[in-house]
Amino acid sequence: MDFNLTDEQKMLIETLRTMGERENFRDLAKKVDATGEFPYHLMEKYAELGLLGMTLSEENGGGGQPILNAVLAVEELAKFSPMIAAPVFESNVGPVRVIDRFGSQKQKSEIIPKVCKGESSVSVCMTEPEAGSDLTALTTKAVDAGGHYLLNGTKTFITGGGHASHYMVYCRLGDTPGYKGIGGLLVENGTPGFSFGKQELFMGLRAMPSCDLIFEDVKVPKENLVIKQGEFVNLMSTFDVERCGNSAMCLGTAAGALEAAKSYAQERHAFGRPICEFQDIQFKIVDMAMKLDAARLLVYRAACGAGRGFPSVYEAAMGKCFANEMAVEVATSAMQIFGGYGYSAEFPVERMARDALAWRVAGGTVQMLRITMASMLFGRRFDQRKGK
Ligand SMILES: Cc1cc2nc3c(=O)[nH]c(=O)nc-3n(C[C@H](O)[C@H](O)[C@H](O)COP(=O)(O)OP(=O)(O)OC[C@H]3O[C@@H](n4cnc5c(N)ncnc54)[C@H](O)[C@@H]3O)c2cc1C
Repeated sequence: MDFNLTDEQKMLIETLRTMGERENFRDLAKKVDATGEFPYHLMEKYAELGLLGMTLSEENGGGGQPILNAVLAVEELAKFSPMIAAPVFESNVGPVRVIDRFGSQKQKSEIIPKVCKGESSVSVCMTEPEAGSDLTALTTKAVDAGGHYLLNGTKTFITGGGHASHYMVYCRLGDTPGYKGIGGLLVENGTPGFSFGKQELFMGLRAMPSCDLIFEDVKVPKENLVIKQGEFVNLMSTFDVERCGNSAMCLGTAAGALEAAKSYAQERHAFGRPICEFQDIQFKIVDMAMKLDAARLLVYRAACGAGRGFPSVYEAAMGKCFANEMAVEVATSAMQIFGGYGYSAEFPVERMARDALAWRVAGGTVQMLRITMASMLFGRRFDQRKGK
């Protein structure tokens, strides 16, 4: 077991850290949150640095690096803001990986080089108004209409909705009930019959494009089929990589909150002393650091286990569940250390707490992750529908 990062990984972290300081990403994070304007201008810079698609397969035009490198990059950028890390997240651990691994040669060569240049992006479209945690109840359906599929249904809370060029739509491809009837179709933005709902107004992750997707008799070419009916497990194993990215967002947010709280505790005085001299503040900081490091070990374990492929379902679920809850605890502790200023939008920690809350739901709720882990610990499946 080796807990050390390679020289290249240390250099990656240092490059992103110095870029963030030089380019004043702290101010950018505040501006993005206040205006709701996504920092699209970063795409070009990230593409130049080779951050977009750095972990996609080399033969498809990606960087061929291990998943851990993307986790480290996302974590470092998310210290400033998840919105600043989002393009690295999407292009490395997002649904473009489904295409990288399972797509046709045509899909790969059309999409992946553009994703690496920041010219295209892919959104994952699972959730429906009546199917969230209960994903296999989804009803969006693609009917074989001879030369094409005819797609109908509605997706909700889709990150990148309206902005992404492509959508990996989880849908029913036949009448087989449950997960066995689900596959994945790639739908291009601009296809007739495909429209978007209004932008969601979330408490955090401000600026992240998110909306409903509406499919009304959308003609999807047959060649856009990525995952056949019955191969749902392929969609989900790719999604476990996304879960490592979600966890990395939490590591970054928590690390940003810890740094801010440490600095503040040394500057702020009460009773004639810097508040870091009070033991309660020291213990809070230590607990925050301890929880963050524990989450890091779980998340890095899952990412290391994935290599350039997929993580273990158990390790990815455990890393995400722990990191999701840790980020909320650390960010709210940071708010407490800031006192009244922690509740003010002038300082970053209230934004970090708002952002942190999202990850406990996005990518699968912490309850559903616990259900996954429970079934592995007990070695049996607990059917949530039948209750036994
Ligand atoms: C910021 C954000 C980004 C998102 N991005 C995307 C995206 O890009 N693509 C996408 O497809 N979706 C996305 N989602 C949707 C997300 O995946 C769902 O919100 C999530 O899976 C939960 O589904 P739901 O909201 O329908 O909640 P529900 O499934 O209705 O659950 C409600 C509550 O009940 C609990 N619950 C449900 N069943 C059980 C059970 N059996 N045991 C115990 N508790 C249970 C849940 O954990 C939850 O607390 C995003 C959500 C957010 C907040």
